[in-house]
Amino acid sequence: MRIAVVGAGLSGSYLACQLASAGAEVRLFGDHLDWEKPCGGGVTSRALEGFPLLTQRPIPGNEVAFLELISSQGERAVVPLRKTLTIYSRRVLDGGVRQAALRAGAELVPEKVRRVQQHQGGWQILTGSGTWTAELLVGADGCKSLVRQATGQDLAAQDTSLTLGYFLPGKFHSDTSVCQFYERGFEGYLWSFPRPDHLSVGILNSLPLASSAELRRKVEAFIGDRYPGSDPSGANYFAALVPALRESAWKRHRAAGENWALVGDAAGCVDPVTGEGISHALRSSELLAQALAAGKLADYEDRFHEEFRREFQAAARWKERFYRGRVWKRSFVDQLIHLCNRSKRVRELLDRLITGDLCYRELARELCWNVPAVTHQYVRSLASV
Ligand SMILES: Cc1cc2nc3c(=O)[nH]c(=O)nc-3n(C[C@H](O)[C@H](O)[C@H](O)COP(=O)(O)OP(=O)(O)OC[C@H]3O[C@@H](n4cnc5c(N)ncnc54)[C@H](O)[C@@H]3O)c2cc1C
Repeated sequence: MRIAVVGAGLSGSYLACQLASAGAEVRLFGDHLDWEKPCGGGVTSRALEGFPLLTQRPIPGNEVAFLELISSQGERAVVPLRKTLTIYSRRVLDGGVRQAALRAGAELVPEKVRRVQQHQGGWQILTGSGTWTAELLVGADGCKSLVRQATGQDLAAQDTSLTLGYFLPGKFHSDTSVCQFYERGFEGYLWSFPRPDHLSVGILNSLPLASSAELRRKVEAFIGDRYPGSDPSGANYFAALVPALRESAWKRHRAAGENWALVGDAAGCVDPVTGEGISHALRSSELLAQALAAGKLADYEDRFHEEFRREFQAAARWKERFYRGRVWKRSFVDQLIHLCNRSKRVRELLDRLITGDLCYRELARELCWNVPAVTHQYVRSLASV
């Protein structure tokens, strides 16, 4: 079967690598092959364990062991991470996986796909220089996926978040990632993630609520305050959309049809609370490769439902509580950061959530279960002041 994969980023390259290794005829279409994709680049080590391609031939990244959280009121809490977070340059990470795909035998067409259309039970793929055909078409072409649109599905503005920020050259801190939160109702956060030779400092907010001028001011204020003397120049500025599907959007969503499939951001595989998508992009590609190896494309839709749809629906519900909820006179996030400084149990829960050991579907139960221990630790912390 001839398979065309549109998008030679992470999910497309990883899929092409697995399919070509299994002997399939794969053509990978990609533009922007050597760019620093707008991204924090943070991947949990738990996620990395599942992808031997990334660990057996290690791709250089920077390991961080602490997460510093800053509330809207300026309160700071540091969460020590039991399992480190690796921060990658996306140019290096995506390039490394793409090279592996080419070594495995995938063919690269280094061009932007302008149009895809159904043709005699398969697909025609049109670029600036020619037309190709394939029996199966895979969309790995990111948030604004052309393939997704060709399958009659598109993302509403309410199902995306706007991100923008700067890559700051140099080394500022290496073992800590920073997340700054804002007032209740601001559905996102600012991050500062240290990579081997630069920082990714950016901000995320639900698209319908976002003003790019205001977001940019927030990032520049953070940089000026935290990294005085550094110069966020226009050349290192980025802005991009990331999927953040609402619960209702997941109900309509399909990841595969008779002769097409979507992976990664094109399939909406991003945590709507945190914007984390790297490990989900890799995992969705893995699930699709397994379904195709078994000759059962329809299995992909079922596995997708089991692994992503249910969890991301739960995450979408949590997003509402997380960014809009109030607990004991503080916004939910501010209260969480406040409790973090007073309760080891809260720090442990956050650590498990960040590193992926605790899923959204279990979060409410875990929080309730831990209320007595957290209350006890909180009261003791007050007594010791
Ligand atoms: C600013 C920002 C920060 C983020 N931070 C993190 C983070 O810290 N941790 C994390 O886990 N996730 C993060 N994410 C999410 C993560 O970047 C994505 O989930 C992940 O990159 C998805 O990979 P992908 O390959 O599916 O899509 P993409 O990385 O978007 O790759 C799509 C590829 O398709 C190509 N393409 C698109 N259209 C066409 C076309 N018509 N023809 C040919 N090629 C095409 C693009 O050039 C690109 O190479 C962040 C996202 C953003 C925007």
